[in-house]
Amino acid sequence: MFRDSIDALEAKLGLERRTFLKFCAAMAATMGLPKGAEAQIANAIATPAKRPSVIWLHFQECTGCTESLLRAEHPTLEKLILEIISLDYHESLFAAAGHQAEAARYAAMEANKGKYVLVVEGAIPVKDGGIYCKIGGKTALDILKECAADAAAIIAIGSCASWGGMPSTPPNPTGASPVNAIIKDKPVVTIPGCPPNPYNFLSTVVHYLTFGSLPKIDAEGRPLFAYSRLIHENCERRAHFDAGRFAMEFGDEGHRKGFCLYKLGCKGPETYANCPSILFGDVGSGSWPVGTGHPCFGCTEKGVGFYKPIHQLADVKNVVPPASYPRVVEEQGVGATLGSAALVAAVAGLAAGAGYKVAGNLGKDSSGPDKDSAE
Ligand code: SF4
Repeated sequence: MFRDSIDALEAKLGLERRTFLKFCAAMAATMGLPKGAEAQIANAIATPAKRPSVIWLHFQECTGCTESLLRAEHPTLEKLILEIISLDYHESLFAAAGHQAEAARYAAMEANKGKYVLVVEGAIPVKDGGIYCKIGGKTALDILKECAADAAAIIAIGSCASWGGMPSTPPNPTGASPVNAIIKDKPVVTIPGCPPNPYNFLSTVVHYLTFGSLPKIDAEGRPLFAYSRLIHENCERRAHFDAGRFAMEFGDEGHRKGFCLYKLGCKGPETYANCPSILFGDVGSGSWPVGTGHPCFGCTEKGVGFYKPIHQLADVKNVVPPASYPRVVEEQGVGATLGSAALVAAVAGLAAGAGYKVAGNLGKDSSGPDKDSAE
């Protein structure tokens, strides 16, 4: 039965079985799920009971989040996103426009009342009654409230929707606000980043599809599997930081040699994200800003990205080791935030157990996320 479903998926998408299974293993590895979870994910995608309806709203933003998701180089991503979900409203991707598009949104909301996933891209202007962003004659504020009322789950994608992002920088003339400042009666999962890594978004959706629940989140609403560790902890230049070898100017000898970018304003020491672990562009062969020689500017971190000037030095957390680290026990492996090498190894080995941490919420049936603090 499962084999038949994968065969059908292969024929429909022109996707090789091996590529599909590698994708499922990558999803499981990204989320730090235990051995065997990739099979559950493959089953959920290949034999979905019903693709979840997704209503995707755009407000104050540049559409970079959508671009990042759909322009990713990994061959399966753009195919699978449309296979995993039923994208029932998305202004950038819709053929329809005007009244037709708005009618489609209402039809999707009515047909999937209480069951659809609401994805919000962009901040919401709240100043002066929200008049600075209107679609179809309605303010972004009203549209958000209208759509959130019957949503089963809400995901704020990108820094603008997650914490205000660039539109909210001082003096913030439009009162640009994040989703969770407006929707208070439902949990909002945030996937910050400018743009966010598409795998973090897709992994969140796949988690919901596979287990019927959203992943564990931190106090800012960010999934712990992606945002529980500082960039600085997994950075490939960390050894240079510890040894005191820094690039002092762009293009100087230290920069050319790949030394640490801290003195050029890198915000990795105060920014939580898994960029150095899962990279951008493609699993295993992608890159990321620090990897290309540009300091991290802290886009996933409220009050850092767009707020702190790039030349300003980061606040360094955890300069010395805490009094005691928890023991790394065999059952837990190396933790959910895998290093690049561990991730690639995990994908290549299709769920070899070494790179996985047991996720505490596996099997929960509540659709709301579990809140936890970033460790
Ligand atoms: Fe990497 Fe930046 Fe930390 Fe240097 S300061 S080790 S470049 S994250």
